[in-house]
Amino acid sequence: MADNEPTVLIIGAGTFGMSTAYHLSKQYQDPSRITVIDRWDIDSPLQNKHAAAIDTNRIIRTDYESHVYCNLANEALHFWFWSIAVQGHFHKTGWIVLDLADGGFGDAVRKTFKERGGDYTRCVAPEELERFAVLKGIKPKDFGIGYYNPEAGWCDAESATTSFTKVALGVGVKRVTGEVQELILDSECSRLAGVRLLDGRVLKADKIVLAAGAWTSVLLSPIEDALRIQEEDRIERQITAVGRLSAYYALSEQETQCMIDSKLPVIVIGGEVDIIPPSQPNRTLKINDLRTEVVSTITTSSGHRITVPSHRHQSDVPEKLKRQSTKVMQDAMPEWTKGRMPHRWRICYDAVTPTEDWLMCRHPHSQLSNLYIAVGGSFHSYKFLPVAGKYMCNVLNGHSNGEEKDRAWKWKSGHELQRREGKEFGDNARKSVRKDLREYEDGVSAKL
Ligand SMILES: Cc1cc2nc3c(=O)[nH]c(=O)nc-3n(C[C@H](O)[C@H](O)[C@H](O)COP(=O)(O)OP(=O)(O)OC[C@H]3O[C@@H](n4cnc5c(N)ncnc54)[C@H](O)[C@@H]3O)c2cc1C
Repeated sequence: MADNEPTVLIIGAGTFGMSTAYHLSKQYQDPSRITVIDRWDIDSPLQNKHAAAIDTNRIIRTDYESHVYCNLANEALHFWFWSIAVQGHFHKTGWIVLDLADGGFGDAVRKTFKERGGDYTRCVAPEELERFAVLKGIKPKDFGIGYYNPEAGWCDAESATTSFTKVALGVGVKRVTGEVQELILDSECSRLAGVRLLDGRVLKADKIVLAAGAWTSVLLSPIEDALRIQEEDRIERQITAVGRLSAYYALSEQETQCMIDSKLPVIVIGGEVDIIPPSQPNRTLKINDLRTEVVSTITTSSGHRITVPSHRHQSDVPEKLKRQSTKVMQDAMPEWTKGRMPHRWRICYDAVTPTEDWLMCRHPHSQLSNLYIAVGGSFHSYKFLPVAGKYMCNVLNGHSNGEEKDRAWKWKSGHELQRREGKEFGDNARKSVRKDLREYEDGVSAKL
């Protein structure tokens, strides 16, 4: 009976939230019992949608050292090609990864591919990359042998998220636009009753899924205070809100066509930058700065230190930070960046876990037993949009995802949190030091 289906409120219409709503809607006889809430309207302009799931592009690839994520990415890739919900947004340009001379990501990925039964990559000498205009002038001796995977590429992450959302709404899932101000307990304080929005509305549900990405700590911390949860058992130990910079270079129609004709793939210069090729509709070369990461730490009224995305608009980047990041891009792309400036910048935030695994579980506190958490994208999880929610549904239904995944995605003990692992680019590529955004704010900022 549809009336017996628990009502579910999902906070956050980003990668994990929409994926959960989509898969849950397939299980529900009455998908209108599922509600997603987010602070931005689905039809608002790209720049106003502050979500890691929304951007000009995101890289889609199966290249992981970890078998779990390699398998999941292969499962997702099928959807990117064939599912009506996200089909047509993926551009299979291939990708080249050039490790620094002491890197090991490429070798580890290719070992995993071989163990899974097929390595369809090929070696790329650093000198080969000079044939792409964007990499003229790189210093080949700084790099080891790279590799090319023809199956990877990029997708338009605004249009893909939007079309995925529309499929879920089309079968009856509800979407509310509004900002959740607080999680509210029931009268006995035995479980969550629902949420209160900034405009005073209250939404109630049997189960609440917190899929608020980098904003997760800020939402959970007041209820952690109310329940007197100790420092070591708080969400901030599980995830950190981290910002990363992207620069967007506007191209002419002709420049765009030259890059397309040169078959420019996605290029990753180990630990330095991602270069994502343009399309004629977007005419934008996007560069992610992999060396610069920022945090914004606040002290809550109860004295706890938590990381939150800054209140600045994400395209309002301090000048000092732009200068530092421009240097990273100039080092990686010495000739192409001469005389060019990005037409737009963005600091985009993600929730990062120490092992770069997802955090997909029921909250461990007995008074929050109807609160579920789906977070921990760690800069690599957009590609899983079509599949992540399938696994979250198992968590919601109290089913195991198998021993390996349950272990990877559970709420971790202090001992387990000491493990540091790299999933995005393996262990070797993570060299950045996370400074507080305030260190870059000198009162002078430019809105682009
Ligand atoms: C710079 C950058 C580059 C990346 N590149 C790639 C890539 O190339 N490939 C890849 O696979 N992954 C990439 N990622 C990672 C990927 O985008 C994220 O891991 C993923 O989107 C995280 O999903 P999420 O659902 O946790 O968060 P989000 O997608 O950020 O969604 C969280 C949502 O919660 C909403 N929310 C938060 N608080 C509230 C509130 N109080 N009330 C209402 N709504 C709220 C937000 O508005 C937001 O829409 C990148 C991430 C970044 C930051």
